[in-house]
Amino acid sequence: MPPMQERNQLAHAKRVVVKIGSRVLVQRSGRLDLRRMAELVKDVTTLHRQGREVVVVSSGAIACGLQILGIRKRPEDLPTLQMAAAVGQLRLMAAYDKLFSPKKCRIGQVLLTHDDLEHRRRHLNARNSILKLLENRVIPIVNENDAVAVDEIKFGDNDALASRTAMLVQADLLVLLTTVNGFRTTDANGRVRKVNTLPCITKDVLSHATGKGSPFSTGGMASKLTSAAEAARMGTPVVIAGGRQNGVLQKIAAGGHTGTYIPPLAPTGCSKTALNHRRRWVAFFHHAQGSISIDEGACQALLCKGKSLLPVGVREIIGTFSPGDLIEIFNLEGQRIAQGLSSYSSAELRLLKGLKTAKIRELLGTEAPDEVIHRDNLVIPTDSPTGPSAATTIS
Ligand code: GLU
Repeated sequence: MPPMQERNQLAHAKRVVVKIGSRVLVQRSGRLDLRRMAELVKDVTTLHRQGREVVVVSSGAIACGLQILGIRKRPEDLPTLQMAAAVGQLRLMAAYDKLFSPKKCRIGQVLLTHDDLEHRRRHLNARNSILKLLENRVIPIVNENDAVAVDEIKFGDNDALASRTAMLVQADLLVLLTTVNGFRTTDANGRVRKVNTLPCITKDVLSHATGKGSPFSTGGMASKLTSAAEAARMGTPVVIAGGRQNGVLQKIAAGGHTGTYIPPLAPTGCSKTALNHRRRWVAFFHHAQGSISIDEGACQALLCKGKSLLPVGVREIIGTFSPGDLIEIFNLEGQRIAQGLSSYSSAELRLLKGLKTAKIRELLGTEAPDEVIHRDNLVIPTDSPTGPSAATTIS
């Protein structure tokens, strides 16, 4: 795969994740906009026929369910939202099925929760399942499993789900379709300008992002930019564009200029600077269960020498966690410097902190892991707005 720093290289993108937002799919009344859906299906089918692998991440279930149930205002309570999702997801998929069938395109439904991607085995299962569909030329249509998802296991919004899906399948291109044709800034004179290429998503850029979702959806431009930044950092180029233009996907996939292009920070498909799959899983698919603080020597070992974290450098343990859980690592000044998967439980670590490896072997035998966190399970974040970075990952 050639580097995708230039937009025209998108013509070579083989695996494409397309996220379609609720506001693109659903009319003001809450009804599915079947004419719009038909155009998008036509567009997706064209990409598919070009031999590309397309994964669709589709919102619209809750909006559609609310309309069917006669609920006018988006409810606040989770059970009603879950009910709407259960009702609407069915109608959404029925609409897709009706539109894709005459085009002889097969589709499959994949419903995910954050939890599914957090556990290594389920993560790999989800990945294998989507890859199997692609291998068999079936178009996966992914949504969050809103009917059962509760706050702790939610992705948050479908922009986040789309970027996680792009990482999960190592997509060559992520397209976020929304109601505006890209990211726009307003200058001091109030002039609005669309940004064609956004090489770096900084806090300043995010401060220009407006729109906080709608009665039917949760994402706004800020959530699109944050998700785009994550995907770009993992080597996937992103285009944020208007989903109401006919042929928008074909244009983007031909390397044409529409919407806002966010080039990948790491060359596409290159694992030298992009996180490898395991670290990507550690960095983006986990909620931390606890934290530890470590001394100066251990900080040096992690940040400058690419070493694993040993019990001897651990000073304090906060929270309760089990072996395999994600924990955050702080220095003695209270700055978060890394995160990773702990080999020990919090209870074990409380006994082992500060001890040298020889002493631990004496206590627990040679089977005991030497490292609290092996470097393969460790990710170093930067102070960027969107979390862990490949650039400073230890390898
Ligand atoms: N998963 C939600 C739905 O299908 C949409 C969430 C979002 O708008 O980001 O309705």
